Amino acid sequence: MSSAMSAPRSDDVSAVVILLDVNPYFWGTKTSTGFTFEQFFQHVLVFINCILLLSHLNQVTVIAMGASACTFLYDSAAIDGTASGRSKQEKRPESRSTTITQKLQEFVKKDEAAETNLGPVENQFSNLSGSLSMALCYIQRILRKPTAPPQPRILCVQGFPDAPQQYIAVMNSIFSAQRCSVPIDACIVGSQHSAFLQQASHITGGIYMKPPQPEGLFQYLTMVFATDLYSRQFLQLPRSAGVDFRASCFCHKRTIDMGFVCSVCLSIFCKHHKACSTCGANFNVKKGGQKRKHPSS
Ligand SMILES: [Zn+2]
Ligand SMILES: [Zn+2]
Repeated sequence: MSSAMSAPRSDDVSAVVILLDVNPYFWGTKTSTGFTFEQFFQHVLVFINCILLLSHLNQVTVIAMGASACTFLYDSAAIDGTASGRSKQEKRPESRSTTITQKLQEFVKKDEAAETNLGPVENQFSNLSGSLSMALCYIQRILRKPTAPPQPRILCVQGFPDAPQQYIAVMNSIFSAQRCSVPIDACIVGSQHSAFLQQASHITGGIYMKPPQPEGLFQYLTMVFATDLYSRQFLQLPRSAGVDFRASCFCHKRTIDMGFVCSVCLSIFCKHHKACSTCGANFNVKKGGQKRKHPSS
């Protein structure tokens, strides 16, 4: 599949949208390596400062994804754009960290109040699809600026495993990113690989990585994910050994190895239906559905 990256320029300015998994259902459980949320958050804060130090034109936007919602925590472009009337002290890194931390605390409180309506704990996944959509909408705004727009990319730092019920929304976001030439990088801090983000990086030409030692997260972030799109062609960056192409069925949102595919709209089902629930196409009952292996590949 072709890479989503358009020919990068050597004077590239990066606009990095970071999606942070702050789901309390992931960070509340003890991770196998003992990596805590405080450590994770400190590593990410220093990484944000690093990107902004690499070039004064670089932009960083941080979106938090919780169990029920997602929100913008920080936007360096918005703060710098209105900085003329502010004191210089507000632009200093310690102030940036304080702003992000305060916003995060507000978000976690709101998320906690909202997630009690979500039902059983096992259904409370991180809101990857929502945060990807927010990131893409924001990037559209950047790309429509009349002045030379920076090269946008998305970095998703995910801990919680994939939510099969978000499959359709996540895949739609991935294809939108591919169309806009926005690479999706993925850094997995949880114990399980993410099939969604493996596919996202593969389709959009981003980097997928699951650090073997999460306690060294900052090193991985700076050495791998801080590099701009132009520099990447000169570096030996980690490439994913394999991509899990399995899809989720549209009827029960379960991950399946084999399934039925609608010949009209390519919807995927785990068992044979008389009609497609997406487009209404009527299947030939005598012959049955067409069975295909790995429908998404
Ligand atoms: Zn199903
Ligand atoms: Zn259909």
